[in-house]
Amino acid sequence: MFSSLIDVSENDSYGSTPSCTCTACRAWDGPNGHLSDRYAKFWLSVQREAEKVRPNARIITIAYDSYYQPPQETKLNDRIITGIVPGFYFPWSDDNRQEFRKQWQGWADTGARLYLRPNWLHFGHNFPFNFARKLGEDFRFAHQRGMIATDFDLVPAPWATQGLTYYVLGRIHRHPDWPIDRILAEYYDGFGLASEHVRAYFEHWERITGSMTSQHYARGHAAKGIGDNPEHKLYRWGDHFFTDSALASGKELLDAAKAAASGDRTAEQRVAFLEMGLRDVKLTLATQDSYQRYHAGAAPKIYVDTLARLDAHRGNIEPHNAAATGWLRSREPEWNR
Ligand SMILES: [Zn+2]
Repeated sequence: MFSSLIDVSENDSYGSTPSCTCTACRAWDGPNGHLSDRYAKFWLSVQREAEKVRPNARIITIAYDSYYQPPQETKLNDRIITGIVPGFYFPWSDDNRQEFRKQWQGWADTGARLYLRPNWLHFGHNFPFNFARKLGEDFRFAHQRGMIATDFDLVPAPWATQGLTYYVLGRIHRHPDWPIDRILAEYYDGFGLASEHVRAYFEHWERITGSMTSQHYARGHAAKGIGDNPEHKLYRWGDHFFTDSALASGKELLDAAKAAASGDRTAEQRVAFLEMGLRDVKLTLATQDSYQRYHAGAAPKIYVDTLARLDAHRGNIEPHNAAATGWLRSREPEWNR
């Protein structure tokens, strides 16, 4: 089916795609000023040109950046395959999710065939964000409205902290008709005697994650002066989401899971795996905290020691695949190891 596709995807860009503002190009734009109609008309023109050589010519492209919204006045056809890039990375707030669903439905209404091409997993670093249920629900929304494929950009897979979200993502690809609760139960069952305690642990992070509004998100990186791509610099502002008290509650729940797992060897090992992730989070936050103190004039020793502790821990958990430690390191350039 994907043989002989003409790829007219735009290159990536920072901010708004630099686009021509001449009268002819502006004339192709829709009334709302977004560039989607311009792109949609361009795709159709390429297709018409190709049809002179090959009837049934197929086009593949994406809906992104300044042209992510559905075109207002241009209809496409089922030989134009469009990757829908949702407008948000985080948070999974009602307004963001509603906007994504509108985007998906609008493009589906053009008659194009759609695949899902999110940047959702760019966000999270090694932190225990839990948006498993919401991701699963929105995946199903798209699946029920003509989704033919997916392409998840950047899958760093911090298994020990976000394993639940990745588990749901994998299983829902296989069983898009399953209720999300069934998939969640399957994951928790893997923890044997500790399954209900592990559920409580992840539901704690789900509550923390779910309490984040778009305003709360914006305040977090603004307070640290992080402009561009704040989702890639989360190690610098993770404490905005994961306060000492949130982490202490998480630790308590995990300790309870550990006690419940006692005697069930597999469950013990799996709970210990979750602990590797939570300890990585605590050390990451401690490193950034000591880095800031050092930067503000404190002697470097505490920062150097904390960073060394973090890296030693990462060395220990690397063989267990608890976190993508190389990727995390590459995302922490400010620490200048
Ligand atoms: Zn032009």
